[in-house]
Amino acid sequence: MTRGQVRGRFAPSPTGLLHLGNAFTALVAWLQARQAGGVFVLRMEDIDPARSRSSYAEQVLADLRWLGIDWDEGPDVGGPYGPYRQSQRGDRYEAALARLQADGWLYPCYCSRAELAAIASAPHGLASEGPAYPGWCRHLSEAERARRAARKAPALRFALPGDDAVTFVDGIAGVQTFPPGAGGDFIVKRADGVVAYQLAVVVDDADMAITDVVRGWDLLDSTPRQLYLYQALGLRAPRFAHVPLLVNPDGSRLAKRDASITLAAMRASGIAPEAVVGWLARLAGWMDRPEPVRPVDLIGHMDLALLPREVIRIPDELLSWLRRCGGQA
Ligand code: GLU
Repeated sequence: MTRGQVRGRFAPSPTGLLHLGNAFTALVAWLQARQAGGVFVLRMEDIDPARSRSSYAEQVLADLRWLGIDWDEGPDVGGPYGPYRQSQRGDRYEAALARLQADGWLYPCYCSRAELAAIASAPHGLASEGPAYPGWCRHLSEAERARRAARKAPALRFALPGDDAVTFVDGIAGVQTFPPGAGGDFIVKRADGVVAYQLAVVVDDADMAITDVVRGWDLLDSTPRQLYLYQALGLRAPRFAHVPLLVNPDGSRLAKRDASITLAAMRASGIAPEAVVGWLARLAGWMDRPEPVRPVDLIGHMDLALLPREVIRIPDELLSWLRRCGGQA
């Protein structure tokens, strides 16, 4: 890697089809890397076997290419930091877990789903992550651990150091401060053996030498957890920028089942990718009108500072056009 070179990435989970909001995030991430003359990496986050489908993974890649987004490294093109599919990176995650374990950061958690569901409203829960875990299993005696281990396989939790607030400067959201212990001790490996997103994403971004994480606003709350992991693993954290979510005209979240907003439906109904990109550029504030453009035409025009904070309402006009064109909810 050239010193100082920007390395960006898009990291979709193949648990469904890409929709307009995912396309927006991908476009911003791609432009951020391309504008800096950097490298763009595509990583398939198929870590959860129960939720991931290889058919979605293929479709996601095809839809991004249709939109005009390319990548220098990825599951289908390879690259020096592969493999680029999380399902093939288990040994990396286990090595990181072993190191965290050896350094005393982890403890086994035997809490059941029902027990966790009963945490009504703990303080410092993170919006995207549910209520904070109150640390029930953190201080179990060895004897108690052995007793519970005989009945249930544990999850592994990361014990938050918890003394200091976490502060970082987000490239879009600005200065972010989370109180000490925000979100509570979090899971790094589930009881069923699946490595948690928080751990996998940190290991991967570090392994792939990512300098700039540009992703959806819904993951802003995950960033303090990831910063703790970078620190505990002795890794250098990247810069973060969280892209506002696209929402319906009434402010509600986009529904996954709304077929008309998927790229696959737009493509199938003959909509030109340039028309979609033009709309996204208009919503981002980079163009006055939604005129057809290719992603490559936007290099030089993209400005993170112009993005609104938090959410962008999709205009009625755009939704009704997409519905007229084909995909129906
Ligand atoms: N795989 C995550 C998603 O599809 C994104 C993770 C990230 O960008 O850090 O929502």
